Amino acid sequence: MTYEDFLDADSVKHFESGLQAKKGKGKGKNKGVKQAFESKPDMSPERMERLKKMLSESKTGRQTLEFLAEKGSDIIFEPMKYYGYFSPDNNLVALNPAKSDEDLAITFVHEVRHAWQDSQMESTSPEYNPKTFLVSGFAIEADACAAEVMYAHEMRETHPEIWEAHQKTRYAGMSTAFDKKLQETGDVNQARAEALLNWYYLPVKPGYTSDYVDYLSQVGREAADMKEANESIETASSLLSKEIDTQVICDTFFKDYDGKQFLSDPKPLEESSRLQIDNNQAYVLAKGMIPYMKAFGKSAEDLGLDKVTVKYSLGTEMSCARFVESYKERTDPKNQAASKAALKAFAGRNQGR
Ligand SMILES: [Zn+2]
Repeated sequence: MTYEDFLDADSVKHFESGLQAKKGKGKGKNKGVKQAFESKPDMSPERMERLKKMLSESKTGRQTLEFLAEKGSDIIFEPMKYYGYFSPDNNLVALNPAKSDEDLAITFVHEVRHAWQDSQMESTSPEYNPKTFLVSGFAIEADACAAEVMYAHEMRETHPEIWEAHQKTRYAGMSTAFDKKLQETGDVNQARAEALLNWYYLPVKPGYTSDYVDYLSQVGREAADMKEANESIETASSLLSKEIDTQVICDTFFKDYDGKQFLSDPKPLEESSRLQIDNNQAYVLAKGMIPYMKAFGKSAEDLGLDKVTVKYSLGTEMSCARFVESYKERTDPKNQAASKAALKAFAGRNQGR
């Protein structure tokens, strides 16, 4: 099952664009229902042309259109819960016609950026080990959102409302970081990199992390089941087994459409504040990784989990490898029996006093 199938099957909250935040603010739900009854959203070819014209007014927008033409991806309007999505299997970009033109211009840039990423390298393969999957999954979202900020910046003179709209979303941290760096350095590439690295601290990140972790856990359990049933062993052992150097991920994704690298240092991507999941996500992950490790004789380090940080709500951190190993110990039936015996002995001692 690919990550896209997984998202489809479970109808998880994603395929969102940079402007998903607006949904959470209360006005979205009723308006959507009302709109559905009152008016049909505009799905006309004229509107699509209007959006393309909005893109053609900036460099990033023009390059977005050029790439779309080159790749031959279809772009359509499709009523949905999200702002838009890109489907690699169908080479298709879809936009939600219920959204405003400003929202859709930005979504257009975001989703086509995913199509471009897909043309460079697979980003969410079930063959990737959890560390690589998380680094790469975070990187493609951060990069697509940074492309939006770049577009909004280029449109500031002619369409300042796009930048202003961005500043009102939960993605505002990125445009704010962009501005600050641009003022310090006068360099848009450094500003774009700074925006990208601030994606990791947005309130939307945990949602993506949960999707990734749910998927990885499911792949882990499926691989273990296949091994146990002695089915498609070759496929099973290819799952979660591939590690890609974070430098390669950086070099592949973090360049503009002209091929100019705007971020080449991989270290920030592996910092504990960025390559991070929370303790609930770590439990979900552990539940899939433990049967996998047992079936294939692998350690948590083999999965790259020593590079992933688990952060508890109270702020303590530990390596995900340690988390998984200690969860494995605790849930091992042998240890459970032993700890029950210890508990019994302890209770018996207490009674004696
Ligand atoms: Zn995206």
